[in-house]
Amino acid sequence: QAKRSGGNRLCCYSTRLAEQQAMERNLVNEIREALERQEFFLMYQPVFHLDSGVITGAEALLRWRHPMRGILSPDDFVDQAERNGQIVEIGRQVLEMACRQMKLWLDRGLPVSQMSVNISVSQIESGDLVEHLLATLKRHQVPPEMLEIEVTESMLAHQGEPMAAQLWKLRQAGVAVAIDDFGTGYSSFGRLKSLPVDRVKIDRSFVRELENDERNASIIQAIIALAHNLEMVVTAEGIETDYQYQFLLSHRCECGQGFLISAPVTPVRFEDLVRHHWKCLRRTINQTS
Ligand code: C2E
Ligand code: MG
Ligand code: MG
Ligand code: MG
Repeated sequence: QAKRSGGNRLCCYSTRLAEQQAMERNLVNEIREALERQEFFLMYQPVFHLDSGVITGAEALLRWRHPMRGILSPDDFVDQAERNGQIVEIGRQVLEMACRQMKLWLDRGLPVSQMSVNISVSQIESGDLVEHLLATLKRHQVPPEMLEIEVTESMLAHQGEPMAAQLWKLRQAGVAVAIDDFGTGYSSFGRLKSLPVDRVKIDRSFVRELENDERNASIIQAIIALAHNLEMVVTAEGIETDYQYQFLLSHRCECGQGFLISAPVTPVRFEDLVRHHWKCLRRTINQTS
């Protein structure tokens, strides 16, 4: 009896494993097609200056217009694309689209000083990230100073010298570097000091739980103090409420992103927000203070 159910479990397990492998293979093919058919596109989330309400930049966020499943978020495919290496090619398209958009905004006189792009581990490991990035900027005539790359804190822990060397090269060329999801990984402070980091982005989880758990307030204050002592600028992710906004403003966090101001939007909507709504944003913010 026991043996039989054990056999069943094994059978179930191997079926599920086979199913999963089939799904992964399927996704590889789908991503390959998506790259050819240009199904990937970017949405842009405003980054705003907390004190003035002015939108200072945009974070480019990847989306996939899937032919059957609708619009997919990075959480639905980036991990696997990372595992099978396809993220490198996706990353190239991302950079291409972000630079093309930035150039368009520049030509149209849109007062946005920075575009942030998320970079994954495989892109760093691929070896030619820096050359490719600088060549793409040049081809689109976008000044390197207008680009910021975001690497997650957990990447810092796993990546040794190759990562540091590439970040320094980028910094020398004028590209800014931000540490994303800060507080969730574990980078030693010593390492943070030795890397060319311009900005720290406080992870959304701390902001989200700010009202419910006082310890998050302490963590946020500590991150801000650490960043400022190392002469880095701080951006808070995921600001959704007035309370969160006020807390961050009063603790001298410089910038923010979040649904309180705007979710990620299309380029047209982004331009509209920058041109016509920043004054309204400022009014909204001032009313709450
Ligand atoms: P991230 O870089 O930390 O981006 C912030 C995420 O928080 C975005 O999710 C954004 O839509 C979401 N968000 C912003 N404000 C709020 C808010 O007020 N409330 C809530 N609940 N969420 C908010 P998204 O676009 O799904 O991206 C998820 C992650 O995927 C990103 O986290 C980033 O790590 C990764 N990612 C995005 N685009 C790319 C890309 O082009 N390349 C790579 N390698 N990774 C990317
Ligand atoms: Mg990011
Ligand atoms: Mg983040
Ligand atoms: Mg994240």
